Amino acid sequence: MAELNVAPDGSGPHKTDVIIIGAGPVGLFAVFELGLLDLKAHLIDILDRPGGQCAELYPEKPIYDIPGLPVVSGQELTDDLLKQIEPFGATYHFSQMAEQLSRTDGGLWRVTTNYDTVIEAPVVVIAAGGGSFVPKKPPIPGIEEYEDKSVFYSIRHRGQFAGKKILVAGGGDSALDWTINLQPIADSMALVHHRDGFRAAPASVNEMKTLVESEAMDLHIAKIKKLNGENGQLTSVTVEHKELGTYDIDCDVLLPFYGLTMKLGPIANFGLNLKENLIPVDTEKFETSEPSIFAIGDINSYPGKLKLILSGFHEGALMSQAAKRIVHPDQKVIFQYTTSSSSLQKKLGVK
Ligand SMILES: Cc1cc2nc3c(=O)[nH]c(=O)nc-3n(C[C@H](O)[C@H](O)[C@H](O)COP(=O)(O)OP(=O)(O)OC[C@H]3O[C@@H](n4cnc5c(N)ncnc54)[C@H](O)[C@@H]3O)c2cc1C
Repeated sequence: MAELNVAPDGSGPHKTDVIIIGAGPVGLFAVFELGLLDLKAHLIDILDRPGGQCAELYPEKPIYDIPGLPVVSGQELTDDLLKQIEPFGATYHFSQMAEQLSRTDGGLWRVTTNYDTVIEAPVVVIAAGGGSFVPKKPPIPGIEEYEDKSVFYSIRHRGQFAGKKILVAGGGDSALDWTINLQPIADSMALVHHRDGFRAAPASVNEMKTLVESEAMDLHIAKIKKLNGENGQLTSVTVEHKELGTYDIDCDVLLPFYGLTMKLGPIANFGLNLKENLIPVDTEKFETSEPSIFAIGDINSYPGKLKLILSGFHEGALMSQAAKRIVHPDQKVIFQYTTSSSSLQKKLGVK
């Protein structure tokens, strides 16, 4: 994968031309179209990597309707898009939710994330797809008291779990990957899953079972019933096993990985017109009810809209022309082909 310029949490205020909320395929391709017009972009995504639905929901499934690519997997398309936009040096803010939108005194848009990163720009592009991916929470009474203290649904810094008694819950790829990844730095590692069958990649399941056989970790086929601790700090988790009954597992960290669900989230409070959780736009510029805020990809709605990646690519191209006029009203937008324009080829680093 191309090397990405990832900004630290809580940084800024960053100044840029365009803030893109969502680093799915459509947000990524927008960087290309904006870049051809000399516009710089910052992208924010709640996921810890780019690719949106393609990378999160179907990385290995083949896509057959991307023009010019007879077959490409979700992850391959993401990797190819990252390669394609590399010349434009976008800045990425991962594992962060774009939470607030406001105006600066100077008339710029200011987007603030849930980790206090601040980005300011004259144009905002909402490429938020089906909404932000948020973790499915396990239905355990009182879990809120422990959240972000000793219960974590995502891992931002692996090092924070060094020397801890870790209990991972779940049977999918995230649960198995983090079990294997954190086991070497943990004081103790255990995995709890409600059934003796795993959805994760067979190689990861085998690796986990080898760790169990060598007594480097424990596996519990049981259901979590109760959390035990004080002031948000876990000391153990009570589980129920079909034959062994109820017992406690000592731990000071619980990491539940029960999958992700998509929610519109804070964008609903940005003050934009919404229609059935989608953002209505015009089909000339893909601008929302608020001038200089655009919406492209699965998140927008207009007569005849098709929720296809290729539609989002087209929308990104037209949005970029309009964004250019806002950021540089004094500059003429000249239509050019990448095949024949030496100035575009220079920007792409091929001349
Ligand atoms: C199983 C499956 C198969 C598919 N097959 C095809 C196919 O063959 N061809 C095709 O064209 N399409 C296909 N699609 C649809 C395609 O994946 C979507 O059209 C495409 O992903 C839309 O891209 P996007 O960038 O608009 O949104 P998304 O891919 O949904 O990306 C949006 C991103 O925005 C982030 N986000 C949202 N809100 C916030 C916020 N407030 N803060 C931070 N981040 C936020 C999300 O976390 C997400 O990463 C398929 C979809 C699925 C589920």
